[in-house]
Amino acid sequence: MRKRPIATNDPHIQALAGIVGETAILYRKEDLIAYDCDGFTVHRHLPKAVVFPNSTEEVAAIVNYCHKHDLPFLARGAGTGLSGGAIPLNGEVVISLTRMKRLLHVDLENRRAVVEPGFVNLKLTNSVAHRGYYYAPDPSSQYCCTIGGNVAENAGGAHCLKYGVTTNHILGLEVVLPTGEVIEIGGNGVPDPPGYDLLGLLTGSEGTLGIVTKITVRLLKNPEAKQTVLAYFNEVEDASQTVSDIISAGIVPAALEMMDQTAIEAVEAAAFPVGHPKDIAALLLIEVDGISAGIDEQINDILTICRRHRVREVKVAQSEEERARWWANRKTGFGAMGAISPDYLVQDGVIPRSRLPEVLREIAAISRRYGLRIANIFHAGDGNLHPLVLFDASKPGETERALAAGSECLKACAAVGGSITGEHGVGIEKKEEMRFIFTDEEILAQTALRDVFNPKNLLNPGKLFPTPGRCVETKQAPLPVK
Ligand SMILES: Cc1cc2nc3c(=O)[nH]c(=O)nc-3n(C[C@H](O)[C@H](O)[C@H](O)COP(=O)(O)OP(=O)(O)OC[C@H]3O[C@@H](n4cnc5c(N)ncnc54)[C@H](O)[C@@H]3O)c2cc1C
Repeated sequence: MRKRPIATNDPHIQALAGIVGETAILYRKEDLIAYDCDGFTVHRHLPKAVVFPNSTEEVAAIVNYCHKHDLPFLARGAGTGLSGGAIPLNGEVVISLTRMKRLLHVDLENRRAVVEPGFVNLKLTNSVAHRGYYYAPDPSSQYCCTIGGNVAENAGGAHCLKYGVTTNHILGLEVVLPTGEVIEIGGNGVPDPPGYDLLGLLTGSEGTLGIVTKITVRLLKNPEAKQTVLAYFNEVEDASQTVSDIISAGIVPAALEMMDQTAIEAVEAAAFPVGHPKDIAALLLIEVDGISAGIDEQINDILTICRRHRVREVKVAQSEEERARWWANRKTGFGAMGAISPDYLVQDGVIPRSRLPEVLREIAAISRRYGLRIANIFHAGDGNLHPLVLFDASKPGETERALAAGSECLKACAAVGGSITGEHGVGIEKKEEMRFIFTDEEILAQTALRDVFNPKNLLNPGKLFPTPGRCVETKQAPLPVK
């Protein structure tokens, strides 16, 4: 950041610059534009300022100042969130954690590491891989998203089917509360500490309960062996049934991913094509790992199940290089949509796996009803769907149609007993859809909890819960007595 003297009479900007230094604050419109949205680009709002603290003390001082002066504020990691969680809806002060990016401690004896929140996910695995360890949660954005953002969203990833999502890998947090106090939760290795499960509560709270400034994570030993299968199907139903049968056979793959024809068209047109046939209806990417003994047997069982469901072609990766190419192709799937559509909206529903065929049929019907293409690229093993609604924002009304189509996809997930988000969070994108799965009373119980941590609702306001007035939420709404 270029050093420019503070050229504003705004006392808040001057005070914030006094905390972080004048080279660690942005406040001019031309600088703020880069922070007007995250990965959910449909809504854009300028922040009041963006500050780049270097330490927990600076974060606490900023929060204290905002709390005292009733300034709304929010935390931001890499800004890859897909539900609008880091969008400054109300002209918030954005607290960017990207300068707090140190790996503080690695303790392989106890299989853990301590990182600052701006530490990039993939860097952790890269830092310990040479010693035979890795960090399991692997969102497809892992090359740039931060572990602080992962904690806030309880991020998942392709390999979370077997190993669990972020919450299963967080051992401790240091948190600046919205009132400016700093607290530490867990981190000392005690497996079931007394009191409430604050680690569980904070993880996935979408930056509404506190700002995470230090994270103790679990590290895993690299599996002894790994094998990866790619299976092509002429019918989506056959691919879906294969997913169901693999899991019900008692096999727990490390990853079980699916792409449909539109998604395949996109990844083949983008940066890492691998030559998937374009006329197949769906493909599965299946990985098993663990101790060497038994891996071949699992692969054979998987191949048998694929063949039982009329697989057109199935192959096992013959080298680490081939496996890496298949994964690069899959992991760039969202961005690849840019190769076939000017704009796209990523949805994130969850369904019971057994309902996959009917929900995919319903998504196809929604696509026809709205006249918009919908690609599906998703973590099939855990029933975590990602319908990608393709649209052109420059065409009048098309953005609104895309949003409505996305909302209907989530309604279809909720209708079969699923949920409106598996890993991307609610943010502003799905807050009205919270009503698909929660009653007013259930939403009130959650907002009451938020108000305990965030009493003035200054930290990331307007996120996660339906707009007041449309639900029964009011600032100090009492919980109903049953
Ligand atoms: C191409 C692509 C692929 C993706 N694939 C996946 C995937 O496979 N799985 C998955 O789960 N997600 C995925 N995502 C979504 C996104 O990367 C994750 O939600 C990620 O966890 C966000 O991290 P971030 O650092 O970018 O956070 P941001 O987007 O900056 O912030 C996200 C939320 O976290 C809050 N926050 C950030 N830092 C902190 C902090 N230190 N303390 C408190 N709150 C904080 C923010 O206020 C905001 O509400 C993908 C996104 C893209 C663009």
